[in-house]
Amino acid sequence: MVEVPESHPRYESLKTRELLVEGVEKGITSKAGLIAHGRGEMFDYLIGEETIEQAKKAERKAVADMLDAENPVISVNGNVAALVPAAIVSLAERLDAKLEVNLFHRTDERIEKIEKELKENGAKKVYGKKADAKIPGLDHDRGLCDKEGIFSADVVLVPLEDGDRTKALADMGKRTITIDLNPLSRSAKTADITIVDNIVRAVPNMCDCEPFYDDFDDAENLSSILDFMCERLGSLSKDVKK
Ligand code: ATP
Ligand code: MG
Repeated sequence: MVEVPESHPRYESLKTRELLVEGVEKGITSKAGLIAHGRGEMFDYLIGEETIEQAKKAERKAVADMLDAENPVISVNGNVAALVPAAIVSLAERLDAKLEVNLFHRTDERIEKIEKELKENGAKKVYGKKADAKIPGLDHDRGLCDKEGIFSADVVLVPLEDGDRTKALADMGKRTITIDLNPLSRSAKTADITIVDNIVRAVPNMCDCEPFYDDFDDAENLSSILDFMCERLGSLSKDVKK
C-alpha cells in the first residue's frame, strides 16, 4: 500500500482510494468498482465531504427500520468489503442482520475472498455462496442470491448498489435502504431510505447512532439534499468571484 502522508490535505480521500486499490489487488474489488467510487467522490465534493444533517437522519431511520425488521440482510459487494470490512460486521451485529455477498460481476472466487475478508473481521456466518434462489426480473448471475439471505429478507441494506437490482428487490416487496452519494442515481430514487453519505462515514455512524422512529419522507429528504447541493454551489460560486 502506498504511504499517504497524514499532512496531505486530501489524506482521508487518498487513504480511501488506496483501500480500493488494495481491494483490487487482493481480488476483492472489481476494476469497475474503482470507477464507481470516482462517481461517488464527485458527489462527496458537492456535500463538502462530511455527513450532512439529511444523511444523519436517514442513517438513524435506517437503523430503526433494520432493528424492527424480522429478517434484515446487509448486502456486501467488493467496494464495501474493501472500504469498511470491520464496520460492516459491527453494524450487522448491532442490527442482528445477516451479511450476504452480492456481486454485480459475480465470480465464485471473488465471493469466497470477500467471505474470508468478512470472517477475518469477525463475521461468524456469511451468505451468498449458495446462490440457491433468484431475484425475479434480473438476467444472468446478477439475480442470484441465497434463499435464507436476501431472498427471504424483509428489509435489505444495499449500499453502493446498481439501480436495477434495487428496483428488482423493491418489486419483490422488500423494504430497501441504500447508501449512495449520488442522489440522482436510480438506486437513490428507488430505495425507501436513501443515505446520501460516503460509506466510510455512514457505516461507522450507523454503528452508534440513536435510532429514529418518527415519520420519515425519503423523497422530501432527497429533495432537500439536492437543494443543499445547489445552495452550496451558489455560495461557492460567489466565493470564487471574491
Ligand atoms: P444507478 O444504477 O442506481 O442509476 P449508477 O449506475 O450510478 O446508479 P452504480 O455504479 O451501479 O451506480 O453504483 C454505484 C453507486 O455508488 C454510484 O451511484 C456512486 O455514486 C455510489 N458510490 C460509489 N462510491 C461510494 C462511496 N464510497 N460511498 C457512497 N456511495 C458511493
Ligand atoms: Mg447502475
